[in-house]
Amino acid sequence: MQSPILLSSPLYNGNEALYISKVLTTPYIAAGGDFLSEFEYALDGHVQPMKAVGLNSGTSAIHLGLMLLGVEAGDYVICQSFTFCASANPIVYLGAIPVFVDSEPTTWNMCPEALEEALSELDKKGKLPKAIVVVDLFGMPAMYDEILALGTKYQVPILEDAAESMGSSYKNRPCGTLGKVGVFSFNGNKIITTGGGGALIADDSNLLERARKLASQARENVHYFEHLEIGYNFRLGNVQAAVGLAQLEDISGKIAGRRKVYESYKTILGEFPGVTFLEEPDDVFANRWLTTIRIDAHKSGFDKEMLRLSLNDNNIESRFVWKPLHLQKSFSGCMYFGGEVAEIIFEQGLCLPSSPQLKMEDQQRVVSVILEQGINKKKYV
Ligand SMILES: *Cc1c(COP(=O)(O)O)cnc(C)c1O
Repeated sequence: MQSPILLSSPLYNGNEALYISKVLTTPYIAAGGDFLSEFEYALDGHVQPMKAVGLNSGTSAIHLGLMLLGVEAGDYVICQSFTFCASANPIVYLGAIPVFVDSEPTTWNMCPEALEEALSELDKKGKLPKAIVVVDLFGMPAMYDEILALGTKYQVPILEDAAESMGSSYKNRPCGTLGKVGVFSFNGNKIITTGGGGALIADDSNLLERARKLASQARENVHYFEHLEIGYNFRLGNVQAAVGLAQLEDISGKIAGRRKVYESYKTILGEFPGVTFLEEPDDVFANRWLTTIRIDAHKSGFDKEMLRLSLNDNNIESRFVWKPLHLQKSFSGCMYFGGEVAEIIFEQGLCLPSSPQLKMEDQQRVVSVILEQGINKKKYV
């Protein structure tokens, strides 16, 4: 059996071990150590003019972000349907009601027309949503000019789920800073990792202060434990922050690696009948977290499941793109606006191995399996 090729492995090529060992010379292993403040300070540099609060996951960052936007039980919150469940689960944690919206085919993210339809329907009911969760999937920013204009028109704030898009930008504005609040994830396979972790991004100093307090059990600033409200245990630990700081020092190298992987796939497979890539629109820089292709089974002669199985036979990990949330049992009964764009992308989409350290010969192994599928296409037709 050939050596395994994973979908997305972390890359520790810097000061990770050094910084962890430094933490272990101090008693400050939990939240509240120097590395947490240094990591936050370093993150601030990537989200100017906004600032970052280090948290224990991207999911908690979304949860906290929705609370800061005033989401309460019984409120509606609009969310992109084509995304990972963690974009919408926190809506339900808060007792609020998700309303799902379709994607558009250019960026695969929230469709502005479907969003407008949802907003105007909810407006007619006299129940505008409290927030809109927009996601930049696979590192590709959504269509923010149109989406932000709708947020302004209906006076509904936007939470940007930039869990997958740290380091990407839209018209020179970094992802994470495009809404009223933004979210990063530092889970194991994201652009940078802390093992587990996330960050909340905002520019309003009251919001930032409130985020830090709610994430630390809503403890009042006195020497004993005084609590005026219910809080959460959401802060990032110092060991994780130490890893994050080291990871962040080389974020541009990691993005360059992933972009190179994307370019090589595109060069080799770009002309392949029925295979299409997620292209970067003008004025957009994508971190290319995962290279994703769409396979039109009738033009290519094979479908994503056949390809996934062949890759798997060759010890290569690939994965379907996110199954739209309005089709998940966990969200059955939720309102949905739009057509079948997200559903069709799900039917066709496959994520290819995209680690920044992927070697050319390994990428060639992936590509040769895809080309072979093309040659054996009679299996499908
Ligand atoms: C990874 C991810 C999250 C959740 O982040 P965690 O750190 O794993 O909690 C949320 N949204 C999207 C789109 C993600 O890819």
